[in-house]
Amino acid sequence: MPQPRYQTLPHQITCIDTEYQRPGLAACYLIESEGEAAFIDTGTSHTVPMLMSVLEARGIAPAQVKYVIPTHVHLDHAGGVGALMAQLPNATLVIHPYGARHMIDPSKLEAGASAVYGEEKFQEEFGSLIPVDETRVIEAPDGFRVQLGNRELLCIDTPGHARHHICIYDAQSRGIFTGDTFGLSYREFDTDNGPFILATSTPIQFDPDAWHETLDRLMALSPEAIYLTHYCEVREPERLVGKLRESLDLFTQTALSAKAEPGQARTAEIRSGLLSWLVDALRQHGCRQTPQEIEQLMSMDLELDAQGLEVWLQKREEATSKAG
Ligand SMILES: [Zn+2]
Repeated sequence: MPQPRYQTLPHQITCIDTEYQRPGLAACYLIESEGEAAFIDTGTSHTVPMLMSVLEARGIAPAQVKYVIPTHVHLDHAGGVGALMAQLPNATLVIHPYGARHMIDPSKLEAGASAVYGEEKFQEEFGSLIPVDETRVIEAPDGFRVQLGNRELLCIDTPGHARHHICIYDAQSRGIFTGDTFGLSYREFDTDNGPFILATSTPIQFDPDAWHETLDRLMALSPEAIYLTHYCEVREPERLVGKLRESLDLFTQTALSAKAEPGQARTAEIRSGLLSWLVDALRQHGCRQTPQEIEQLMSMDLELDAQGLEVWLQKREEATSKAG
């Protein structure tokens, strides 16, 4: 097991690198209060030994972990939930009502992810998914509150990236744990202009209109910090949200203007459209990476984004043809 990489943030929040794909790609969080602790997102099952070792380093016994709260069931966020729950005797799983059944019986999730990532890659990246006993699962509808020591965590239903997505507002830090709902912002792209941020349209429930509305609701909370899964904390959300919305619109325009046949050809066209926008946008942002380096850093994201946009287009086309 690699030495866990983690960063202690203010307000008893620890940002832990899940070591998914590469350092700095995906994080999860440990929150503490009055001798109780909660994980928000878990990484994959390969991350779990690192999480246990961070607990030990922080002087927290496994029995003190009260909650495991995945933002949504995409496997870079929730693939490790079952394996982690198995090591935490007192933990309750708190999850969006649409996500709960996938944690109790992960077979559909496994099949879906194998289709997106390919069978071999799925095994290598995620291993097997361990079911969580139904008696340990609490569904968190919009407005659900979780009491952790003396801090309260508010679950917010946040469709847009996925329908099974919650964000978690923490009044103590005035921060929101946003999973993928505040987009991606890799630290490699930080410049004097600040962080670079963009949307993520992973298959299969990308919904740009719902996403814009979700962002309205998140910003209405006047957050001071955003705790991203990809990657770590960003501040001044009001400065970033406009850029995020722009990228969301750019994603849909790139998809809608693709000319190739639906399926693989169109997916490839969308991917290359996204890449050329990204190379341009990063240069304007002051990044010094070459286009090749950018493609390498963003390769998995671009692939998933293009696939998700193709799914979104096909659903729209189906709806239109039914209506006609
Ligand atoms: Zn996701």
